[in-house]
Amino acid sequence: MPARLRLLQYPRRLRVRLIFVYIVLFSVFLSLIGVVFREVLRNTLDQTMRAVLEEEWGAAKGYIQIRKGRLTWFYDKLDPDEALFVARLQHVYLLTNDQGRPLGVSPIYQSFGIDSADRIKRAIRSNQATWSVRWSEDGLPYLVRSGVLIDDGNRNFFLAIGRPTGQNQRTLDDFTRQYFLAMPAFLLVSLLLGWVLTGRALKPVNDLAQTAQRISGSSLDVRIPLRGAHDELDRLSEAFNRMMERLESSFAQIRQFSTDVSHELRTPLTAIRGQLEVALFTAETPEQYRDAMLNAMQDVERLSAIVKSLLLLSQAESGRLLLQKARQDICPSIRDLVDQFQIPADEQRVSLTAGLPPECTVEVDRVQFERLVANLLSNAVKYTPAGGKVSVRLADRGETVLLEVSDTGQGIPEASLPFIFERFYRVQPNDPAPEKGLGLGLSFVAWIVKAHSGSIDVKSKVGEGTAILVTLPKGAAPGERAGQAESGVPAV
Ligand code: ADP
Repeated sequence: MPARLRLLQYPRRLRVRLIFVYIVLFSVFLSLIGVVFREVLRNTLDQTMRAVLEEEWGAAKGYIQIRKGRLTWFYDKLDPDEALFVARLQHVYLLTNDQGRPLGVSPIYQSFGIDSADRIKRAIRSNQATWSVRWSEDGLPYLVRSGVLIDDGNRNFFLAIGRPTGQNQRTLDDFTRQYFLAMPAFLLVSLLLGWVLTGRALKPVNDLAQTAQRISGSSLDVRIPLRGAHDELDRLSEAFNRMMERLESSFAQIRQFSTDVSHELRTPLTAIRGQLEVALFTAETPEQYRDAMLNAMQDVERLSAIVKSLLLLSQAESGRLLLQKARQDICPSIRDLVDQFQIPADEQRVSLTAGLPPECTVEVDRVQFERLVANLLSNAVKYTPAGGKVSVRLADRGETVLLEVSDTGQGIPEASLPFIFERFYRVQPNDPAPEKGLGLGLSFVAWIVKAHSGSIDVKSKVGEGTAILVTLPKGAAPGERAGQAESGVPAV
């Protein structure tokens, strides 16, 4: 599936998944509610029926007379209420003597099967009301209440009366049917509602996807407007916008870098071309050829220095230049470098001095550390006019060491200070003496300091001088990467 299509489908699929989960949970919830309500209804109907039956059983005593082992229903036949009530009692009943011999029984009760004499005797002995569900011949359920009836002559009888529970069952079935038939309608309504709500909730995500789709190398200024809800989606948009800002600035840096590189390479290339043209078209004597070749050679060297520095820097920044850190005394390295830089310093009539402790053990990658010092010394000597002073100082600060390279040179304008660690940045880019530098040295220094978990600070005043202060921790954290080291100390 093409990426574009996938991106467009994502919110829709998420929406479907959300709705699906929501509907499943809602159906389970509704079913549970239905079951609970059905149970409550069943219980209420059952309790009501028991209460009615209990009342009827109590009232039945008043309408029953037993004379000489014969049952007579005693009531006012002219009272329609009483007649109806007794008729209802006579519908489902059984009356026996204490030996279980039936004195009266309704046909429906007979169809249940008359209770055994043993059971009746036991019931009379226990003198407890009992409840049971009995089934008639035609398969209808009845709730039966039985108990002991004591007449005026203090004789015990067994009386059971019943009521059909079919109506209760029908009510329950009606409820169940109607509830579960209405459920799909509930679900449909909630599905529509859920669809609309999730659509609204996912709209910002959709907008985000669409905005992301519009982004290309030339439209990195796209931002998602925040809704001001301060919710997760606003945070997502914020994070996206911040990411875009970083991307935009990285792209701008890359663009600037390509422009700078082309510019840097063009200058020596133009010079080489010029030298070769001189050699080809105007040089006549071997000396003139030699001069042109020599000049071209210098520019080729400058070109290869730029390429080498760029390669090193890109290796460093992409993490491919691995450090080989070891605890070592860094004073000899600094002393050697100061000795090496005496020659260019003397040539420029700049005094170069060092103030070092006898020994100072720090965990560093020797090659990179020397490259750092060489770059700082090279800059200090380069940018200090004749008669000036350059000094190197190393101070033990307990957990850290402070390396300070200061000069009494031209200084750096305050406005340039924030940029001097950027690649190709030079305070005077149109310096008539471009051989002075490539604008890469301090970027490399900054990387080396960072790779040693240190910090770097610059103090400078135009016309007075510059001091670069590097603080390095003495011991590197365990587990630092170790690996390749380069030899030599080219000042890049
Ligand atoms: P470069 O190769 O041009 O010296 P760097 O990255 O080492 O490049 O330095 C960047 C810029 O910072 C230099 O071009 C220079 O203008 C300024 N700079 C660095 N060190 C000094 C210093 N000690 N005195 C004055 N300016 C300095």
